[in-house]
Amino acid sequence: MPSDRQVLAAARSSGLRRAALAVRDVLYPPRCAACGRFEQGFLCERCHELLIPASGPGTCGNCSAPWDGADFCPACMHWDALDGARAAYRHEGPARALVHALKYRRVRAIAQTLAPDIGGLLAAEQLTVAFPVPLHRRRVRSRGFNQAEAILDHLALERPAGGLLRSRRTRSQVGLDLAARRGNVAGAFDYRGERLDGARVALIDDVLTTGATANECARVLKDFGASHVVAITFARANPPDRAWPTGGDG
Ligand SMILES: [Zn+2]
Ligand SMILES: [Zn+2]
Repeated sequence: MPSDRQVLAAARSSGLRRAALAVRDVLYPPRCAACGRFEQGFLCERCHELLIPASGPGTCGNCSAPWDGADFCPACMHWDALDGARAAYRHEGPARALVHALKYRRVRAIAQTLAPDIGGLLAAEQLTVAFPVPLHRRRVRSRGFNQAEAILDHLALERPAGGLLRSRRTRSQVGLDLAARRGNVAGAFDYRGERLDGARVALIDDVLTTGATANECARVLKDFGASHVVAITFARANPPDRAWPTGGDG
């Protein structure tokens, strides 16, 4: 079986690259993204049982981050436009492996595995309009697709014309602290489309970390009339720059 790198090396241009990835997804049987077993789809039963829900006791009711205290946790206190975040699972173990395979191994078909959990969260929050968090067009070209859009493709939702755009290229948020993340995405988004007066909007992505990107997107959507904006993601990562109350090292 050729490696991902060999498949990609064979396809220099982005159109060919996309086609090569699509062919790979069809030709090779899915294997569990977490343990590699060829079983049922991209997540085997055993690894499915290891997923840790990002809800219930021990999580912040506003943002799904681990939190034992009352009210908002320190991870979401700084959001001034985003009304909350819901995630299906913590970004650990098999959830992390799925997200990684979708985004960095570019196995687009994994979006189908992530979509039902996202759909369940959308219904529970009564969100009527959903937009994917946009990637810059150069990032889309190199990855072959926007992972948030790929997830939405598997949900039966009315897709409004237009949507959010990334108007400025930003560096990756990975490894940046909160202040740097906020500065990195400030003013990076734009919206093209009909007004959203009174709409309850879902911002779809694979994983949420500090929420700086989603908060910035929410600001733009509210400028265009949205009344309520909630980030809906498959996984919730621990924000990197805060001490968790149960973390042990302050
Ligand atoms: Zn497995
Ligand atoms: Zn919170």
